[in-house]
Amino acid sequence: MKTSEEYVNSLRNLKRDVYLFGEKLEDPLDHPIIKPSTNAIAMTYELAHDSQFRNLATVPSSLTGIPINRFTHLHQSAAELVEKIKLQRVLGQKTAVCFQRCVGWDAMNALDSVTYELDEAYGTEYHKRFRSFLGTVQEKDLVCDGAMTDVKGDRSLSPSQQADPDLYLHIVDERKDGMVVRGAKVHQTGIVNSHEIIVMPTASIREEDADYAISFAVPTDTPGITVILGRQSCDLRLMEGGVIDPGNIRFGGHEGLVIFEDVFVPWERVFMCREYAFAGMLVERFAAYHRQSYGGCKVGLGDVAIGAAALIAEYNGTDRASHIRDKIVEMVHLNETLYSCGLACSSEGKATGTGTYLVDIILANVTKHNTTRFPYEILRLLEDIAGGLLVTLPSEKDFRHPEIGPKIDKYLKGKAGVPTENRFRLLRLIENMTFGRAAIGYRAESMHGAGSPQAQRIMIARTVDFEAKKELAKNLAGIAL
Ligand code: SF4
Ligand code: FE
Repeated sequence: MKTSEEYVNSLRNLKRDVYLFGEKLEDPLDHPIIKPSTNAIAMTYELAHDSQFRNLATVPSSLTGIPINRFTHLHQSAAELVEKIKLQRVLGQKTAVCFQRCVGWDAMNALDSVTYELDEAYGTEYHKRFRSFLGTVQEKDLVCDGAMTDVKGDRSLSPSQQADPDLYLHIVDERKDGMVVRGAKVHQTGIVNSHEIIVMPTASIREEDADYAISFAVPTDTPGITVILGRQSCDLRLMEGGVIDPGNIRFGGHEGLVIFEDVFVPWERVFMCREYAFAGMLVERFAAYHRQSYGGCKVGLGDVAIGAAALIAEYNGTDRASHIRDKIVEMVHLNETLYSCGLACSSEGKATGTGTYLVDIILANVTKHNTTRFPYEILRLLEDIAGGLLVTLPSEKDFRHPEIGPKIDKYLKGKAGVPTENRFRLLRLIENMTFGRAAIGYRAESMHGAGSPQAQRIMIARTVDFEAKKELAKNLAGIAL
């Protein structure tokens, strides 16, 4: 297993086309805006070598029996699905951002059972190919970006009906040794920190769109791939040279638009090729694993938010007010409810045909649906407790200024005995989580990540057995027919 340092060095060998602020980055890993995101994902490597967390962060491989980083593992029991959630909570607590490594992990677990069932139906050899790829990922302890979301153009039209056929990733050519693909995937979490990209279809696919029913893996430095990073709220604060105003100087996340221009994929790395009937199954299983994930990672961020609320109340001298205590209890209630959902969908997981465990689909969707609400309420309470200074605080440069700095220090002091700088630092962390860089992971991603709220309602409606529930009511009401 790689150490965090070996992991970062392994990324340096990749020659990629990465753009940010209109510039092609020669060494993206050294960019001040990208570095915190690399630190966050590096924490998944650090825990594997940490005596306190090794048992959670590592596990014997189901393929080889050799200990591997859990982020490359196929879950072998419901208990291991629970351990996934616990690991994600710890990582959320330690970073307070999206640590990016779960999407590829969830993609691998979904592909394991879907390729197996695909082979059973069509006599293909996708599962063998996938397992061989996974063997390399485990052995080299790689990070995989999980690429599902196409740019989608006009949402009312199917892939092949679009004015531009490239608005969904598709096959444009087939050769003896592989296929050529074109299109783009958006919102790609941790793409610059990834060694590989695992591509999946974005939705169920019909026969006329079979060229869009594809899944494969390619290294992130494959010719034809261009990455354009998204900018984040308050991102330039990382370029100002200060340590307070960035809010969370050590950790961050990133997302990018990934463009595939006639990218060649050798057959041994293709896991689905036009079997459109299985596209929906892959989307559904991947989404279920990723919706489960939010019952872990977002709970870890919630722990930080609750800690920040309790601390700022102390600094402000409001910690004994009964309504403040009650609001913090409410934050805990919401956060632990989310955790309960994550644990429940994991505990109710069942084995698939390969022995890899799949979460309970309806409970995983309930987990994510609650995630579209609870973090918002937790943050609303945090903003309430923090007070207006959260948005009117002077800059770090003013705080450090030889003349006005001491005035700020005097007048923006809270409780005696608490340095004003502590209050500054904490308010900036809260700002980072509520509407700064980390709000991407804790707020907008809670809404749209792993599918927007309506996607969960559709899955819940599709999965629930209304007829069985009607029978319960009929039985008790004495209705015979
Ligand atoms: Fe992992 Fe959460 Fe980030 Fe998704 S949002 S990659 S589950 S940390
Ligand atoms: Fe996500």
